[in-house]
Amino acid sequence: MHIIEHIYINGNFVTPEGDEWLDIIKPADGSVIGKARLANRCDAERAISAAHAAFPAFAATRVETRITLLEQMYASVKAAEAELHAAILLEYGAPSSRSRWMASYPADVIRHVIEELKNYPFSQQAGRAIVQMVPLGVAGLITPWNSNAGFICHKLATAVAAGCTTVIKPSEYSVLQTEVIARALHRAGLPDGVFNIVTGRGDTAGHAISTSPKVAKISFTGSTASGKAILRSAAETFKRVTLELGGKSPTLILPDADAASAAEMAVQAGFINSGQACIAGTRILVPVQRKAEFEQALTAAVKKHRSGDPAEPDTTVGPMVNEKQWQRVQRYIALGEEEGARLLAGGTGRPEGLQAGWYVKPTLFSDVTNRMQIARDEIFGPVLSIIAYHDEAEAITIANDTDYGLSALVIGQDEAHARQVGEQILAGRVMINTLAHEPRAPFGGFRRSGIGREMGHWGISAFLEPRAVTLA
Ligand code: NAD
Repeated sequence: MHIIEHIYINGNFVTPEGDEWLDIIKPADGSVIGKARLANRCDAERAISAAHAAFPAFAATRVETRITLLEQMYASVKAAEAELHAAILLEYGAPSSRSRWMASYPADVIRHVIEELKNYPFSQQAGRAIVQMVPLGVAGLITPWNSNAGFICHKLATAVAAGCTTVIKPSEYSVLQTEVIARALHRAGLPDGVFNIVTGRGDTAGHAISTSPKVAKISFTGSTASGKAILRSAAETFKRVTLELGGKSPTLILPDADAASAAEMAVQAGFINSGQACIAGTRILVPVQRKAEFEQALTAAVKKHRSGDPAEPDTTVGPMVNEKQWQRVQRYIALGEEEGARLLAGGTGRPEGLQAGWYVKPTLFSDVTNRMQIARDEIFGPVLSIIAYHDEAEAITIANDTDYGLSALVIGQDEAHARQVGEQILAGRVMINTLAHEPRAPFGGFRRSGIGREMGHWGISAFLEPRAVTLA
């Protein structure tokens, strides 16, 4: 049994005042593998005070000092990779191909921030003025369960690069992963109060952060609904806010695409992180004149995926993170059938042979219209919809007809043309014939996919505010 009964404040592991204990569930079989004591509002307030007290000295540090601290953070997190991998497998259930990346990414992303920081222009001339980039103050960093360690390290490294101190509120469903990262960060030797970690509920610990007058900035990754609540409470004290929220991303397959390879890539884009990914390409747009051919290719590609034990090497789709998420995905699959979509693969229930664990069948619908709920809502599971279009103009209209705008994928033989099409889609990231992640580029969404951008120099700027000093 894993018993976690501390949080991290001002350089120390301390017992929270909060007395709620949460079961830690292994999604691969639904068993209870431990429990964690959660932080409450008072704990969050103590953490905020520690970060607030540490801010003036930290904001005054030189860039070289912060680079050294980030190097220490990198080395420490890198050394915890194997331990983190074990925690991800156990607590989150990502299949090994994904969990290996999730375990190495937290260190890699710190390295990317260091590279950006080395060239970041903290002072620039603008006419007669010198524009200085000034750290905002205490930053509240709030993370989701679908890549908790990666988001903690990315947000923290960026805040540190900018000279902000932080209070981290990780997902309450990722306590084992947070524990590994907290210990690694403790060993990194950052000054006391620069980072504090309060794992607790969103409506208590999280709410304390998003309402505190001592917090100047919120960097949040999570659902659009929580993002909206945070935006409202942050308005009261004029916090600067970066929100990375949900998506319902289109994969637009052009008429000249090769069916088999396009289908492979489209399904990979849809099933990334077992479908529990904000960037998942869940609406697959195909030309109506080749619909039958694409249906066949996409069905074949879906059937190559295996939903099962994340520890087995041929598993590509792991369990959903918890029962609530499993129920949600089941509801949407049933709704798809009720709405008149045609099931090509998968369906409700667990895959054959699996009685326990939060496994779902990799599912593909066709005859989906963009008005259907399954085409509009973020399902956050491996459930894909094929939507047919008559011509390119209609395809672009459908791609843009969404409340979201996080990511888009365009697949076609003629790359220049695919790019022309992609540049008409309103999304924070548009990928042309690739799923490659570019860490130097900004990440974030249009519309309800969020506000602001993370990554690259845009990410550092989001923790700073310009001050123009004009000389006579
Ligand atoms: P969630 O919104 O339920 O929770 C995210 C975090 O916010 C958790 O730590 C939670 O405790 C906290 N929280 C909830 N309500 C809060 C409040 N009122 N005040 C302060 N904190 C609060 O999301 P989730 O279920 O953990 O994650 C899944 C969602 O995250 C999906 O919608 C997904 O699209 C989104 N996501 C977005 C990105 C992105 O970069 N755009 C990346 C990953 C996940």
